[in-house]
Amino acid sequence: MLKQLRRLGLTGTLCALSLSAYADIAIVVHGGAGTILKKDMTSEKEAAYVAKLKEAVQAGYAKLEAGEPGEDAVVATIQILEASPLFNAGVGAVYTYDEEHELDASIMHGAHRQAGAVAGVKTIRSPIAAARAVMAHSPHVMLAGEGAESFAREQGLEMVDNNYFDTDHRLEALKKVKARMQEAGKQAGGQQGAEKMGTVGVVVMDAKDNIVAGTSTGGMTAKRYGRIGDSPVIGAGTFADNNSCGVSATGHGEYFIRYNVAADICARVRYHGVSVTRAADTVINDVLKNAGGTGGVIAIDRQGHIAMPFNTPGMYRASIDNNGKLTVGIYQDVLETSQINAQ
Ligand code: ASP
Repeated sequence: MLKQLRRLGLTGTLCALSLSAYADIAIVVHGGAGTILKKDMTSEKEAAYVAKLKEAVQAGYAKLEAGEPGEDAVVATIQILEASPLFNAGVGAVYTYDEEHELDASIMHGAHRQAGAVAGVKTIRSPIAAARAVMAHSPHVMLAGEGAESFAREQGLEMVDNNYFDTDHRLEALKKVKARMQEAGKQAGGQQGAEKMGTVGVVVMDAKDNIVAGTSTGGMTAKRYGRIGDSPVIGAGTFADNNSCGVSATGHGEYFIRYNVAADICARVRYHGVSVTRAADTVINDVLKNAGGTGGVIAIDRQGHIAMPFNTPGMYRASIDNNGKLTVGIYQDVLETSQINAQ
């Protein structure tokens, strides 16, 4: 009903009547999964994460509530997280072995399975904006490296020096990982640990019933040789299909690519007829876990149901469901819930 009114442009009327509880739109956000333990967290840090997750999810929700397209909500929400040093995306991205940042991002629209991605980019301020530009303004799905940067420049996107993404805590993390690599005699980084957490992702259902998913990351600390993870790989780190569901993933990317995680979850919803909760839980806590892959996903199905399973101690996450219920979590248990637009 509310969706029909919104389509008719009557949302303003609704607001005037104070009928502010929107029934159909939904949004879920993640800020990375991994060994996130309460004992390692200060209350200030925890409060900062909660505040940023809430700011992001509420900003995205406001766009959906205004009837804006899902892709606008996804990009705007991810850009809030890319601009925050708390997350491994944009500012605060992890360092490569060579002390640079190489960023990956992707977006997919569930209506016609349009998608865009950039991989290994170093100078695009907002990789998710570039992924969206690839989807909207190019005949391709994935652009990499300097070519992606030329395209972004041509599209008028903001370019920055690579050190725009620098943060002291990520440099510290690189040093630790390199020391461990040296001890173990390893050639490349990519170990799962506190150093690499913070990939961000968003899935929404918009006022027109479209499911859109996006993901943005700096990848894994000390990555080398042009390593690309799952985040820009459609089907692995990001997937959306209005006939089943939308997914954004975070975790050890190599496993997510090999197990085609995001697409597998939606295929189970579509062909097995199981709920998104069950499909996502099976893939994360059964298939992936048994293979040794760590991480989690956020997902929304075509009825607007939300799932957020992870097989790590924690995952930064927040959602507003189609009843206007806001949920925020970091560790196993939900941290807080409240009602948005309660009448
Ligand atoms: N999945 C990302 C990658 O492998 C990293 C992460 O989500 O933490 O590049």
